[in-house]
Amino acid sequence: MSLHLHLRHRIGEFALDVDVTAPPGLTVLFGPSGSGKTTLVNAVAGLLRPDEGRIAAGDWVLMDSATRIWLPPHRRRLGYVFQEGRLFPHLSVRQNLLYGRWFAPRTARGESLSRVIEMLGIGPLLDRRPGALSGGEKQRVAIGRALLAAPRLILADEPLAALDEARKAEILPYFERLRDEVAVPILYVSHSSAEVARLATSVIALRNGRVVAMGTPAQVLGDSAAMGARGVASVLRARVVAHHPDGLSELDTVAGRLWLPRLPQPPGTPLRLRIGASEVILSRARPTGLSALNILPGQVLDLHDGEGPGVLVTLSLGDGSFAERLAARITRRSAEAMGLAPGQTCHAIIKSVALAPLDIGAGVPDLG
Ligand code: ADP
Ligand code: MG
Repeated sequence: MSLHLHLRHRIGEFALDVDVTAPPGLTVLFGPSGSGKTTLVNAVAGLLRPDEGRIAAGDWVLMDSATRIWLPPHRRRLGYVFQEGRLFPHLSVRQNLLYGRWFAPRTARGESLSRVIEMLGIGPLLDRRPGALSGGEKQRVAIGRALLAAPRLILADEPLAALDEARKAEILPYFERLRDEVAVPILYVSHSSAEVARLATSVIALRNGRVVAMGTPAQVLGDSAAMGARGVASVLRARVVAHHPDGLSELDTVAGRLWLPRLPQPPGTPLRLRIGASEVILSRARPTGLSALNILPGQVLDLHDGEGPGVLVTLSLGDGSFAERLAARITRRSAEAMGLAPGQTCHAIIKSVALAPLDIGAGVPDLG
């Protein structure tokens, strides 16, 4: 079910002006603080009535100023996951979950309680009160409660922002399952490039109330207009091949093998890797006698001058329809010294410690 967001709204000095249609799946609304993400989510939720526009999930219209359709918030069939869990402190986890289901229409076919408990791994928590849960456990229960309301759309406004890195890593796989196993569109707000790379089916990049880029994670994270020259990253598909006794995991990519500190995923698991352009070093010849284990050959596609001393070099890795792009941010001085030009063979060197756990997520086979 595609998500259609067409609206114009003014609050004081701030103007939101958006017209995009996102394909089915998990859509990340991405942008810096103050770019209008929460304002847009509030419009979808019906907490704010836009000056004009049309919001629809598939053919289910939430509002349309032209035809004067306006569904009040309680009739929008939304599942919410907020930054902080917002569970009822006096109810057990089980009662909190069932409270969600209480709002599901009798005829709605949502997920069953047992399925939600299994999917989120919250069986052992059912009789506890929220006060006895960790931040990550609370968020899992909040996701469960949202799912049990049999929503037609799930809204998650920076659901990980209040968690530390370890808790984020604990929750991300559950959003991956939600994306891959539940046929409900998700609008997920984030200002984290790592979350975009891991979770998004598609990305809407907002800045100052306007859409500056829209596309797959690879397209948007690789777009220096959307990310700024320093924020550009690539998303590379990989598959776990083996785990070795020296603590490294071996991965296969379109351009060859990568070695990373031991990953939890079993051999065969498809992954997406987010690789920051500043973490990539380039060499014309295949380097030898180097401590870095990860050397991927590719071809220079283009060089893009940014402001300052940096150049963004895009390589094509692999060949034909399996080719993927990898961006490297190097100095103009290096690019000139190397005589880099489109079409040349070039080697990308990636330090295996450059990838944090948050950068490595479950892959989607059809990721563009
Ligand atoms: P984000 O969620 O991306 O951080 P917001 O949607 O919360 O951004 O805010 C976008 C802009 O709208 C900001 O400049 C903010 O100050 C302004 N804004 C949001 N809500 C209000 C309001 N109720 N009154 C005045 N300005 C607001
Ligand atoms: Mg916000």
